[in-house]
Amino acid sequence: MTNLDKLIKHFERFPGIGGRQARRFAFHVLTLPDADVTEIAELLTNLQSSVIECSRCHRFFSKNDGPTEMCSICTDGNRDRSKLMVVERDTDVQSIERSGIYNGLYFVLGGTIPLLESAESNKLRGGALKASIDAQITEDLTEIILGFSVNPDGENTGRYVETLLKEHIAEHNLTITQLGRGLSTGSELEYADPETIKNALKNRS
Ligand SMILES: [Zn+2]
Repeated sequence: MTNLDKLIKHFERFPGIGGRQARRFAFHVLTLPDADVTEIAELLTNLQSSVIECSRCHRFFSKNDGPTEMCSICTDGNRDRSKLMVVERDTDVQSIERSGIYNGLYFVLGGTIPLLESAESNKLRGGALKASIDAQITEDLTEIILGFSVNPDGENTGRYVETLLKEHIAEHNLTITQLGRGLSTGSELEYADPETIKNALKNRS
């Protein structure tokens, strides 16, 4: 396999990227000035060591934020600790933060469970979610919001989380809600505009 083929294979594994796009990316790299290629290579090499995974919500944050194990959202004393929103991935947190309407905490589950896959075979952070909820219960948690995309995988993941947290919900009298159907069917949270997210949050049930 040539270096070009190997690069194409890597791009193909990126989320949402097909073979044709992967080839376009690789050929685009060939046309870039040397300085750009060097910068991209350095960024890729250093990216993982320049971020930390928050010990509480598990989103990635830049080490420049300070010498802490928790991100700026989890350590913010002005956030509403009665609410925890569970989302698929880091980019969902960014989308919701941009909407500016949500002031609770988050938990990044790390993906979804495809409809035909069993929960056991997934690599989601179920155990870590329980631990974060235990921590937040001591801070007066009352509501868990399922912030998943409106598609079969998102709905399946919602059911998984509800089952996973059954005992927590019963024992601590927690309310579990889902983002309202303002999000159109099949839409990914990541691509929803701020106004849509505002409505989905307002209409949660
Ligand atoms: Zn955090």
